[in-house]
Amino acid sequence: MTASFRLARIVGVDVGVNWSVLVIFMLIATSLSAGRLPADYPDHSAWAYGIAGTSAAVVFFLGLLAHELSHAVVARRNGLSVEGITLWMFGGVARLRGEARTPGADLRIAGVGPLVSLLLGVGFGAIAALLVAAGQDGLVVGTIAWLAGINILLAVFNSLPAAPLDGGRILRAALWRWRGDRTWAAVTAARAGRVLGALLIALGFWEFLGGAALSGLWLALIGWFLVGTATMEEQGTRLAATLAGIRVGDVMSGEPVTVSPDLDVAQLLDGYLWESRHSAFPLTDGGRPVGLITLNRIKAVPPERRATTRLRDIACPLEELPIASPDEPINDLLPRLNQYADGRALVVDGDGHLIGIVTPTDISRAVQRATLIPRP
Ligand SMILES: [Zn+2]
Repeated sequence: MTASFRLARIVGVDVGVNWSVLVIFMLIATSLSAGRLPADYPDHSAWAYGIAGTSAAVVFFLGLLAHELSHAVVARRNGLSVEGITLWMFGGVARLRGEARTPGADLRIAGVGPLVSLLLGVGFGAIAALLVAAGQDGLVVGTIAWLAGINILLAVFNSLPAAPLDGGRILRAALWRWRGDRTWAAVTAARAGRVLGALLIALGFWEFLGGAALSGLWLALIGWFLVGTATMEEQGTRLAATLAGIRVGDVMSGEPVTVSPDLDVAQLLDGYLWESRHSAFPLTDGGRPVGLITLNRIKAVPPERRATTRLRDIACPLEELPIASPDEPINDLLPRLNQYADGRALVVDGDGHLIGIVTPTDISRAVQRATLIPRP
């Protein structure tokens, strides 16, 4: 899930927001201030409901942020680096780089999120109870009680033992510790995610047919998202297991055909393209990579401008290219490879000189080989 805009940097973690948060924010604020609160606590002004509903939605998202930040902080303490947090329509995602090294770390990183939501829920519940005991009963108490309920619901839902929910990660950690096989544990948690997703879709349709159209649709949508993410996780886990122990240097295409960044598109088409079976050419300057040119980028240049367009100006810049070393495990490179549209990585030696390129074809060839010849 990509962030539409960056919100802040909190405890060293980039917090971004996807536009879909606005939709959910409006949905929560309006359903509270125009529906639930006036029904439960009549005789207030529209302004009072509006302020109560909007504040509740703001505090709800702050709670969500606290949940994701707790994942990020604990992940960092357990030696993982955190790329950032994105809030979106189904809650939040803390993007972690790499995997927990032990079942214990896996458990701590996953478990802290629902724990934070639960503590928030219990805290709001205690405040509401204290206010009631002090003789308060009305709109403010009702709003705080709603916050208590929604945070506890969040904690419970996230604890369901199915990936990609936190409970799925907890299940993975437990199975991993039990059998010592992380791949099997992750695949099992992902399968549980597909089952839960299918159940939610069925439940959503049931509600939809029963007349609760919006909440039914919402449940089905969450279920659909769970099935999709769990399936991707299962495939990713199997791929990582297949490629375990294989290094970038084993997979890359060595001695790639390089071109000078000062050539123009016409020169590339005349001199290289038809003699080469490649569809991507690293641009180098003194042996060091400065960018990458692909067929798609060449196609985007109209024929009449080929002679005047320099490769340097249309190449994928170095900052957007994954750079790998030949000794790096291929599994460490894969997430970086998928991040970029061009889908290729450049391999450099210790002096920064280009020695190879990794393309999607190289990866699928490596997968085929590893499947045919299982490594010890
Ligand atoms: Zn979580």
